[in-house]
Amino acid sequence: MLEIRFHGRGGQGAVTSAELLAQAAIEEGKYARAFPSFGPERRGAPVSAFCRIDDKPVTLRTSIDSPDVVVVLDPSLFNAVDVTRGLKKDGFLVINTKKESKQFMFEGLKQLAAVNATQIAQEILNRPITNTVLLGALIRLMPIVKVDSLISAVQTRFSGKIANLNVQALERAYQETQVLSNNGEQTLELVSPKNEFAGKEKVGKAAKEDLDYLWTELSPGCVVQPGSSRDNHTGDWRSCLPVIQKERCIQCGLCWAFCPDAAQVQKPDGYFSVDLDYCKGCGICAMECPTGAIHMEKELEL
Ligand code: SF4
Ligand code: SF4
Repeated sequence: MLEIRFHGRGGQGAVTSAELLAQAAIEEGKYARAFPSFGPERRGAPVSAFCRIDDKPVTLRTSIDSPDVVVVLDPSLFNAVDVTRGLKKDGFLVINTKKESKQFMFEGLKQLAAVNATQIAQEILNRPITNTVLLGALIRLMPIVKVDSLISAVQTRFSGKIANLNVQALERAYQETQVLSNNGEQTLELVSPKNEFAGKEKVGKAAKEDLDYLWTELSPGCVVQPGSSRDNHTGDWRSCLPVIQKERCIQCGLCWAFCPDAAQVQKPDGYFSVDLDYCKGCGICAMECPTGAIHMEKELEL
């Protein structure tokens, strides 16, 4: 089984990356499962997403702690999250950077794929959503799925102009990704470096050569409608479950107050239970419960 972990920031499409890759694998007759893990559920917060691909059914739905491949959608995450945590020896790393890629190599890494995904996304999509760009880099590094399968998954997921732009972004990343081996040697040259954007006016401060891309300086990717979370059963991607010990509960309601998804529901007897359609397993209720009445358990493999 191949395990891929994506790291992004809320709004960059890390979850969509995992889903598109899984969809492409399924289209090729493989088995796959993709799901995210959210911490603070807000735009710009670090987000992880997981994809497992195998030739036999994938029943495991826990987070990936020891991935074969890590894909990092946002360069600022290197300072915020231990993105290579648990990466297998001789594992693979795919990164979005404008910097010299050699500095990201480390002992134990087999290959590194680097692409300036933010620039590609800004220039083609006019927004810093780097998910399809990084997918192009990923399959350039290792042909987990065929390019055509991934393009088909993109075209199924999106429509019209958006689909076409994402396919363009994916293809350009495939062409511009550089792959380094563990001794720092470049093992794959650019397929055909394109300069079609040279001379074009670039977007905002991101065009300044001496700046890294700051999330706060980039344009927003989309607008979230208030209240729309009720339409989404966010519990679908949960991998940990809060368990309440009624005998320790003092009915203070703090779990209800702190739950970001209104998943704690007070019953007529005053005690609280968890609405599993919406609980995403963030663990905030367990952290805030003053009596330790809540603990988190990993959900069982299906
Ligand atoms: S019930 Fe607890 S674990 Fe579930 S979403 Fe709410 S705070 Fe998070
Ligand atoms: S926070 Fe803990 S003690 Fe308070 S109502 Fe929730 S489960 Fe009970």
